[in-house]
Amino acid sequence: MAQIIDGKAVSAAIKEQVRDEIARDNIKAGLAVVIVGNDPASRVYVNNKKKACEFCGIKSFEYALPEETTMEQLLELIDTLNADKNVNGILVQLPLPKQLDEKAVIERISPKKDVDAFHETNVGKIMIGNYSFLPCTPAGCMELIHSTGVSVAGKECVVIGRSNIVGKPMAMLLLHENGTVTVCHSKTKNLAEVCRRADILVAAVGKPNFVTADMVKEGAVVIDVGINRLENGKLCGDVKFDEVSEKASFITPVPGGVGPMTIATLMKNTLTAAKIQNNE
Ligand code: NDP
Repeated sequence: MAQIIDGKAVSAAIKEQVRDEIARDNIKAGLAVVIVGNDPASRVYVNNKKKACEFCGIKSFEYALPEETTMEQLLELIDTLNADKNVNGILVQLPLPKQLDEKAVIERISPKKDVDAFHETNVGKIMIGNYSFLPCTPAGCMELIHSTGVSVAGKECVVIGRSNIVGKPMAMLLLHENGTVTVCHSKTKNLAEVCRRADILVAAVGKPNFVTADMVKEGAVVIDVGINRLENGKLCGDVKFDEVSEKASFITPVPGGVGPMTIATLMKNTLTAAKIQNNE
């Protein structure tokens, strides 16, 4: 039976470190969170981010814009935030309403304030291993893997999913730690067979209960990034938890696994951004 990796506990420890450093060194840090429209899930995420800021002693600035916001209005706000000395990090909650070009919005954020690490400049820096911020969800997954005491070096690592936000940077971070990495996607042949090779398996597919026990090697570390809402309103991951936990050595639950880590890394990145900008 697998040990459950407690994302809530690991993320609480990271937020406490951030809070303690901010208090100890009297650091002024500010995060602007921009939300456009009325997506209920986005609203929950933004509220959780605000709560985490409060806990850490980071000043949060919320900009809630109406659904019909134009590109021009949003870019103008980003320009203002880029120039605002009280704002060290800017986060635009995705997804954006259809009329808004997400890529152009991300590119407008100053790379120094891009605490999500989605800007092309930051993505490039991560690729060459010379970065200030790591993308929040993959970095959170790495912390969870570290918390198991299992070393990535030399291990077979399989990532299911190749999105710019999760799958691709996740693969890169595992590679930086000397994992032997395979990235799978919807065109991958013999997916179950590839997954069964994994000592470390990361699922970022967005399909409930996609990873079944027959796809998992005995003793594997299984990280479930998926957040899927079922018809009964319950949240579930990409991994069929009951059966996979019988085979894995470590597994993350949903909720309470990767989710809280994303916010903890955001706090860490905002502190890093503040330290860099306050020293300029
Ligand atoms: P995307 O939809 O952008 O990417 C999904 C990936 O899964 C794609 O690369 C797709 O392949 C692949 N895929 C889809 N179907 C299959 C299949 N049958 N076999 C193999 N691969 C497949 O999702 P995201 O990366 O943004 O998110 C993934 C999940 O993680 C979602 O549930 C999301 O809610 C969750 N998430 C959780 C976060 C957290 O904080 N815990 C943060 C961000 C996301 P292809 O490229 O070929 O289409």
